[in-house]
Amino acid sequence: MQDPKRCADKLTRRGMLKSAALPVAGAFALPSLAVAVENSSTPYQRPRLKITDIRTAQVRVHGPQTHIRIYTDQGIYGQGEATDAAVGTDALVRQFRRVLVGQDPLNVDALWERLRTSGIFAGAQGGQYTTALSGLEIALWDLAGKALGLPVYQLFGGKFRDKVRIYCDSDMESPIGPESDRKLPWIREQGFTAMKIDLDDATDPARFDRVNWTASNGEIDRMVAWVKHVRENIPKDMDLACDMHGRYDAGTGKRVAIELEPFRLLWLEEPVPAEDIDAMVDIRHSTKTPIACGENLYMRWGYRELLEKNGVDILQPDFQKVGGLSEARRVANLAQTYYVPLAPHCVVSPIGMMASAHVCVSIPNFVVCEWHWINHPDLWKSWVKEGEIIQKGYATPSDKPGLGVEMDESVARKAQIPGTGWFEPSAS
Ligand code: MG
Repeated sequence: MQDPKRCADKLTRRGMLKSAALPVAGAFALPSLAVAVENSSTPYQRPRLKITDIRTAQVRVHGPQTHIRIYTDQGIYGQGEATDAAVGTDALVRQFRRVLVGQDPLNVDALWERLRTSGIFAGAQGGQYTTALSGLEIALWDLAGKALGLPVYQLFGGKFRDKVRIYCDSDMESPIGPESDRKLPWIREQGFTAMKIDLDDATDPARFDRVNWTASNGEIDRMVAWVKHVRENIPKDMDLACDMHGRYDAGTGKRVAIELEPFRLLWLEEPVPAEDIDAMVDIRHSTKTPIACGENLYMRWGYRELLEKNGVDILQPDFQKVGGLSEARRVANLAQTYYVPLAPHCVVSPIGMMASAHVCVSIPNFVVCEWHWINHPDLWKSWVKEGEIIQKGYATPSDKPGLGVEMDESVARKAQIPGTGWFEPSAS
């Protein structure tokens, strides 16, 4: 018969360490290891939760955003944010509610897949449907983190980096003039190491006409002058990206990309619409300027052909509409198989940006993430109770459970879209 005291010692951590010094076959024979693990581990208790309600609030800051909250029978809720194709998403979320109430919110991926596949004949391939699904899925991850007591990045396998490099979208009407004189020094003072300007100008008098976006020589000269001016007025080590918003044709895209080669851009964004894959491939292979796109593509299938055809240097999924955080990670992994890095599009509040940040630290192929609220600094700084989340050009994911930030409703409600509800309980 075994000595009980000796047996108990074996099952303590010290006992296990002592055993490790013994020959492997004796110390770690399977039965003794199983007993040791069983006795020295904290029993895992999976929280039992049920979804009881889903509520929305619609705001307009940089475009429309839908904030989504998922409530449970245990008093905790998760919050998410959807953007861009957010108009009408509150009606879709009400439909999703019928499927989700009573479900276990910790089955995040399974719930997402159920909603996606049930909507195949209702537009689930992109647009508003996928945008609504994105905000909802982000809320599920926030809820899962809160329920399990872990930050979302930990649920994604931990961190490749501690902080997320952020670039400032300057959101300027014209990069030459008073607005630029004010903003360029401010961007530098904030500590950003990268920024972006827009090159498309609907009011350019050199345009051929109001409809055709084939650029004239005068327009291309104006674009080059803008880039030259900004390049000369920001630090040499600050990266500069330029956006054409998918408005132009392939010939214009090629000409602009080649003209801008001397400025060594971080990227030239969407010279043509992202869905025009062959044109994007043509432009990319005609220039040394890196080509970026992806903010208007949805889910992993939206990126496959673009990657297969080597049509892009940098991919820009928007996590608040691409399908959510798990789908963002799937797109990142797909891109990595082609050695393509990610620079996520991001135009949302600190809640959405913190959600993006949790993904950005958890993927290997991350370059820089967008910030687009330069024209709304007061709302940005006070939108969440935690205050400013960008410090010296970087955002650090919170170590608190879930996303780690909570909305200050007295602030966010200033941006509420008139005539819409504010997290109103759903009629059961
Ligand atoms: Mg863009």
